[in-house]
Order: sequence, then structure tokens, then C-alpha cells
Amino acid sequence: MNTYLKLKGDEKKNFLQSKFLYYRKFNTYVVFFASLASITYFISDCQLFGRFAWETLFQRTFILVPLIAFLIVNAKCTNYVIMSIFSQFMAHMMMWCTIGAIYYLPDKTHASEGFIIMHIVFMACTFASPFWLSTISHCGVFLNIIISHQFNHYENIDLMFSLGLPCMIGIIATNYVMCGVYYDTYTTKHQLEDSLVMDPLTKVYNRHKLPSIVSGWKFNFENIDSISVLMADIDFFKNINDTYGHDKGDQVLATVAAVIKSCTRSNDYIIRWGGEEFVVIMPSCPIEQAVNVAERIREKVAVTDNDVCPVTISLGVAKYDGVNYENAITDADKALYEAKESGRNRVVCA
Ligand code: GH3
Ligand code: MG
Ligand code: MG
Repeated sequence: MNTYLKLKGDEKKNFLQSKFLYYRKFNTYVVFFASLASITYFISDCQLFGRFAWETLFQRTFILVPLIAFLIVNAKCTNYVIMSIFSQFMAHMMMWCTIGAIYYLPDKTHASEGFIIMHIVFMACTFASPFWLSTISHCGVFLNIIISHQFNHYENIDLMFSLGLPCMIGIIATNYVMCGVYYDTYTTKHQLEDSLVMDPLTKVYNRHKLPSIVSGWKFNFENIDSISVLMADIDFFKNINDTYGHDKGDQVLATVAAVIKSCTRSNDYIIRWGGEEFVVIMPSCPIEQAVNVAERIREKVAVTDNDVCPVTISLGVAKYDGVNYENAITDADKALYEAKESGRNRVVCA
């Protein structure tokens, strides 16, 4: 099992966000039903009083207030930090509503059973949260007991600790293992996704990557008007294969891909489109700038030593119209065709 505790920075954030989203539905149900279940403790209050326990009605039903707030925020918010803290807050609210009701109960000895159930509630509320947050929050159960003991004067507080501590340690250990299991699934999923969308020879994306890029076009890129598409094709590549063999051809391909990578930014997407064709998608890059990049690539490919033979490439550049990505690629392809027709080793703008 891998350890996710070593993750840092964005990697850690992405993991925790993914974990939250994975358990989001479960987390919502847990908070909702646990809140309702804490209201049903009112029935046991009535049993203890032997009548309608109006004294505890407010305390038992008060949880509806934060619950409504939670449901409203939860409907809109997908940020793991906010929602994890809110979920833990809800678990504490359930506990404090219970503590408030216990204050009025004639017999407080059953509080220890109630608090054991609270440990289970804390366990269920921790699935979606970061491990450290759920651990601290769970430790808060005992802090709540100690504080409330000042006015509730539990007769069996020692029992609450002797029963609760092993319960909490078991739950924290389980939570740690569960986090590790999710981390394994998370890394395996990413490795599989990467191997599906990466071209092993040139170490750039393959066509399978395009749908996920396109689905992000409308949402991720700040300025949709300035997405440019560039299509590049190695000139007379067949001759290289025929003259030097496929292995050497592969070497040339990998070198050209590396040159393209070195001339583009880290947020550009380089896709091996076909045999010796590459598409580069450039967000936040007006077409004039994209033409400059294409020129730079063309010049650099011509002077880079690939240990086989000198090569040149032709490039077509087009602008994404904000509607249809296929049009942008077709336009870039047409421009590339023009570059080939007009003599190769050149850049044509659609
Ligand atoms: P043009 O200047 O018009 O682009 O001419 P070209 O010879 O580059 O064009 P053509 O499309 O006829 O040839 C592309 C060649 O690329 C044909 C194919 O054998 C080769 N090819 C495709 N995939 C690979 C690969 O993975 N490795 C190698 N070594 N060659 C490949
Ligand atoms: Mg070619
Ligand atoms: Mg070709």
C-alpha cells in the first residue's frame, strides 16, 4: 500500500479533492441521516422522562438549522476544504445537540452509550475528509465530553473514556487504511489514464487525449477567443524510413517531438496526430503569437541534430472559432497542406 501522507503541494490538493468528490454523495447522506437520527433520540428522552420530554425538544431539533445550511452549501460547493470542515462541524453539532439534551435528562448514565454512537458518526463523516482533519476532529469528541462534564457532571465519565478510546483508535487506524486504499486506486487510475493518452515513442499525447482537452475548452481556458491550433508534419519522412530504416525514422520522430516540446509552454497540449504529424493546442495564445511559435519550431527542427539526417517540417496554424474544435483542426490541416504545396519547410496561417 502506498502512503499518501508524503504528497505535497498541488499533488496533495488534487488527491484530497478527488477523494472528496469520490465520497461526496456518501458524505451528504451520512450528514443528512445522522442529523435526522440524532433527532430521533428524542424518543429515548421521552422514555426516560416517562412523558413528552418538552425540555429536550429544542436541543434535539436544533440540528435542523445547521443541517439546512449544510445542504444549501453542499448543493453548490465542491471544494474539499470547505465541505470537509463543514461535515466535521456537523458531527460536532450533533454531539453538542445531544449534550444540550443530556443536561435536562433525569438519568445521565446512558450518555456513555450515546457517545459511543457518536464515534461511529464521526467515523462515517470522515470518509471524505483529509486524514489529519478527521483525526483531529475525532479527538474533539473527548474534548466535548470534558467540557460538557463541567455542567453535565456525568456519573460514568471514566467509562466514556475507557470505552471510547479503543473505539477511536480503531476508527483512526481504519481511516488510515481506507485512505491508503483510495490512494492506491487513485494512482492506478491515473497511471492507466496516462498510458491510454500518451504516445510511448514521442512521450507526447495521442488522439485519445483530445476529448478531455476539448471538454475543458469551454470551462478551463480564461480566454476562449485566443486558442490557436497548430498542425505540423515532417517533410519527406517516408524517404528517411526508406533510406535509414524505421528505427532511425523513430529516432527522428522522437527528436522532432522533443523540439516541439522545447518551443511550447507547459500548458500547451502536444498531440501525435498520426504517423509523423503533430497537433499543438495553445490556450491563451492569439494566432499571431502561434505563428511565431510555429516559425520557431520550424527553424529549430531544421538545425537540430537528430543523429540521422537533416529534416524539415511544414506547419499550418489556425484559430479556434469558439464553436467547433473540428473546424480548427481542419483549418490547420488545410494550411499545412498549403505549406506542403508551396514548397515545404514553411508555416502557413489559415
Ligand atoms: P510529406 O512531405 O508530403 O509529408 O511526405 P512524407 O513522406 O512525410 O509523407 P507520407 O505521409 O507519405 O509518409 C509518412 C510516413 O511516415 C509513412 C510511414 O511509413 C511513416 N510512419 C508513420 N508512423 C511511423 C512510425 O511510428 N515510425 C516510423 N519510423 N515511421 C512512421
Ligand atoms: Mg510528412
Ligand atoms: Mg503525413
